[in-house]
Amino acid sequence: MDDSFSPAIGPQRLARMLEISRQLNSTTSVDELLKLIISEAATLIGTESASILLLDPHTRELRFKAISGEMPPQLNNMLVPLEGSIAGKIILTNEPLIVEDVKSNPGWNPQVDSAINFQTSGILGVPMHDAAGEPVGVLEALNKLDGQKFGEDDVLVLSTLADLAGAAIGKAQLFEELQKAYQKLNELDRLKSDFIALASHELRTPLSVILGYVSFLREEADEETGEHLDQVLKAAVRLRSLIQDMINLRYVEAGQTNLNLRELDVAKLIRHVVHDRDETAVAKQQTVHLHLPPQPLPIRADEEMLELMLSNLYSNAVKFTPEGGRIDIGAAKRGTETWIYVRDSGVGIPQDQLERIFDKFYQVEPHIRRRYEGMGIGLTIVKELAQLHGGRIWAKSEPEKGSEFFIALP
Ligand code: ADP
Repeated sequence: MDDSFSPAIGPQRLARMLEISRQLNSTTSVDELLKLIISEAATLIGTESASILLLDPHTRELRFKAISGEMPPQLNNMLVPLEGSIAGKIILTNEPLIVEDVKSNPGWNPQVDSAINFQTSGILGVPMHDAAGEPVGVLEALNKLDGQKFGEDDVLVLSTLADLAGAAIGKAQLFEELQKAYQKLNELDRLKSDFIALASHELRTPLSVILGYVSFLREEADEETGEHLDQVLKAAVRLRSLIQDMINLRYVEAGQTNLNLRELDVAKLIRHVVHDRDETAVAKQQTVHLHLPPQPLPIRADEEMLELMLSNLYSNAVKFTPEGGRIDIGAAKRGTETWIYVRDSGVGIPQDQLERIFDKFYQVEPHIRRRYEGMGIGLTIVKELAQLHGGRIWAKSEPEKGSEFFIALP
């Protein structure tokens, strides 16, 4: 028999390795991965125990991360110097290392044994690499069972496992970082929303005082002063509507809205909204055409919210339509739904932005050369409220010809 030895992974170990690879790929928690790798390493190599040390990406120091059984707290994250330690040597040489008698090796640190009440005799350690082939840590198998020695096939098996594990750990670390970043983003978003809510409420009170006094002074004023005060009043009313938009943003923050559903007549509500806000359309000499059935159009909705949706769409139509333009508003039953539309003959919206206009703070015109006032919140609120009602909103448009917004409500 030829006794020259060529290391190979036997069929049983190979099958096991494939199964491990599948498990490693489906685990995204670093801690779970470490546990899995440790237990598989000890089983595959046939050792009493196994351990993992990972390189700190910033300080480039090794730290204890996992060991068979419970990890004692004093060992968790324990620093292992690269210089002079067994694990450090494995990283520095980027080669597997077998130490059959650790007690006589100067790189051996007996602290670990005493922490886990274990007697290490032999170690097989291999470097772990990430997907890019960079060393990320060391995987060690400790004490071969039945006093056997580590063989070359053990080195091959453990090295293969270490690289599968290294890639999986890298992926899991990335995943955890991503999750943290996502949580932080959510937290920032919440802080921003809290700030907007607070600021808008705080602004409302002094503004009411200004509006009150200016209205009062307006009544007493002579003609010239009256005209000046009218300007102040107009600006204050405009400010009030901006602040109201900010306050309405609360509807967009999920879970903060309770719908007060009741049966109401959409046609009546549309007439009311148009009548209430006729002034600006009249000032711009626009004609408004209603297309409503003579009989009521009953739906179940929150009246205040539906009014807000309609008035946002209507105000936009007036705002983005030039003087003398035409606006059409209508509603009708469509199967089990009620469709409402607001059509204008204004500036229109480019095709590729028909979805984005519903995003928070999105405006077609860049801020610096804006001709229209507003904060880019209105449509976001309409969309959110439509969805809260189990409905949908979408837009059609042709630039320079006009836009048409549809709301479908169940
Ligand atoms: P705001 O009107 O305060 O800017 P909105 O959320 O209501 O915010 O609208 C977002 C953007 O969508 C507007 O800035 C505008 O660019 C575009 N838009 C909305 N309605 C119309 C419309 N009827 N015609 C043309 N563009 C519109």
